[in-house]
Amino acid sequence: MSNKVNILDVEFDKQTKAETIDLLASRLKDHKKTFIVTANPEIVMYAQRDSDYMATLRAADYIIPDGAGIIMGAKLLKRPLPERVAGFDLLKDLLAVANCEYLNVFFLGAKEDVVRKAVTNVKQEYPNLHVCGYHHGYFDEKDEKVAEIVKKAEPDLVFVALGFPKQERWIKIHFPQFHKGVFMGVGGSFDVLAGEVKRAPLIWRKLNLEWLYRLIKQPSRWKRMAFLPLFMLKVFQTKKERVNG
Ligand code: UDP
Repeated sequence: MSNKVNILDVEFDKQTKAETIDLLASRLKDHKKTFIVTANPEIVMYAQRDSDYMATLRAADYIIPDGAGIIMGAKLLKRPLPERVAGFDLLKDLLAVANCEYLNVFFLGAKEDVVRKAVTNVKQEYPNLHVCGYHHGYFDEKDEKVAEIVKKAEPDLVFVALGFPKQERWIKIHFPQFHKGVFMGVGGSFDVLAGEVKRAPLIWRKLNLEWLYRLIKQPSRWKRMAFLPLFMLKVFQTKKERVNG
């Protein structure tokens, strides 16, 4: 049985969060280069209209379902995914693995003061991991100088917080030059690590309502939510085509 679920041409991995972490921990141990994307409906919809970005997603080793909408879409297609795996939770679990294994971690992205604060907090919470470097996220993604800095640091893990689609593009462009490393786009996670942005309380997350909490806190995000019905509609259309075809 395939361990992928195809939603609008994006191949999601069908693992639980615990299985995902086990898999990534073993890849880290074996120094297997890995490109992870955590995708939500907004990312899937963006890939529908940008073929370059779709090709970037195809280059990923794992696409993780980050968002209640993805879980709903999979259910609608009768190809359920076990659970939502929030990008931020995966980031925290990977930091915990890095802490146990004394790994090198690079933080790339966000504003200079934000990434610096995030690094300070990470060092405090995970004293055994080694922050081998960090860099703010305001540069051209094709810039080789920044990629060189990351490469010289010899990271085992690279968290790229440039927001999508920039972070995935950066990974796709520079990935071939690295001989090891697990690379993951983490959106606004450094802002949370730095304590600048608060995550939804656990009960909201358990009820799959993190999106609503973020919308209440940052009403300007409504534009980003507006595509969710469109996403569901498109998934529904694919399902109908499948049944009729
Ligand atoms: N960012 C960056 N460089 C850019 C654009 C954005 O480093 O050119 C950072 C920004 O400072 C923020 C993150 O990328 O920390 C994007 O966060 P956003 O909330 O858009 O991501 P989400 O988690 O919603 O995908």
